[in-house]
Amino acid sequence: MDIGFIGLGSMGQAMALNALKAGHTVRVWNRSRDATKQLAEQGATVVDTAAEAFVGEAVFSMLADDAALRAVLIDGGVLQQAQKGVIHVNMATISIALCDELVALHQQHGVAYVAAPVLGRPDVAAAAKLNIVAAGDDEAINRVQPVFDAIGQKTWRVGSKPQHANVFKLAANFMLAAAIETTSEAASLMSGYDIDPHAFLDVITNTLFPGPVYQGYGRMIADHRYEPALFKAKLGLKDVRLALAAAETVNVALPVASVVRDNLIEVLAHGDGDKDFAVLGRVAARRAGRAV
Ligand code: NAP
Repeated sequence: MDIGFIGLGSMGQAMALNALKAGHTVRVWNRSRDATKQLAEQGATVVDTAAEAFVGEAVFSMLADDAALRAVLIDGGVLQQAQKGVIHVNMATISIALCDELVALHQQHGVAYVAAPVLGRPDVAAAAKLNIVAAGDDEAINRVQPVFDAIGQKTWRVGSKPQHANVFKLAANFMLAAAIETTSEAASLMSGYDIDPHAFLDVITNTLFPGPVYQGYGRMIADHRYEPALFKAKLGLKDVRLALAAAETVNVALPVASVVRDNLIEVLAHGDGDKDFAVLGRVAARRAGRAV
């Protein structure tokens, strides 16, 4: 396919590279040009503006958050200039409110809109093993499926309304946040009794809670290792806030999310926002009187 790719951060960089390796023609744009270097070396065309990426069959975006999408797409007037008929696939984790606003704006400018947030961290993206949660017009998703196949292991179609993909993603990250929090608190409890958290996590991840979340984050928490950040705590806070907002809109309470939000605010207050989400382990340890 002939595609554009906007947003070459930890995730977008790996995804665009895999699309390129699979033989797609990729036009890339990033706010800081440095991030385009490796892709250019691999054969991507670097463009100077986001609008120039909005041509061809489809454009994929992997920007940080609502503010970034608003700055690039809406304030930057990109949609007004977009080639008619191009499909925009937004893979970032954003709010339900912005998703609905984007659906209306894309319709107005003749651009198809697919929401396709992903499950998996940058290492998973690099291995082209992402799980893609997609929603939107079926025909548009069919057309971009070859690129999904190049960057992910499976595409889960969850509805024709784009917002449904975002609700899935927010609910998934809420569960992820809760798992990291409970793992942190349990590890702290172990340390209180002079039990090595590694030994505890070894038992737990081989019995009650197997799987990548408890194993991966559990190891980081037990090691007190919060760098390099595969999923920054500040992005985790963004997602927990988005889940709370989505829930409040439909009068659903998420009390556990409120606790994790407060703990992540404490993470930021201690200057740890750029550390990995696992840094919730440090909050639990600090509260138990152990500085780590
Ligand atoms: P990241 O490394 O922080 O990259 C963010 C990207 O957004 C960069 O390309 C950055 O450009 C761009 N950006 C930020 N603010 C901007 C602005 N105002 N105008 C233009 N560009 C702007 O983030 P990431 O980890 O790749 O995450 C991207 C998305 O994927 C997020 O929505 C995140 O929640 C989601 N996600 C992340 C993970 C994960 O584990 N990391 C997993 C699944 C989903 P610059 O390079 O110029 O700063």
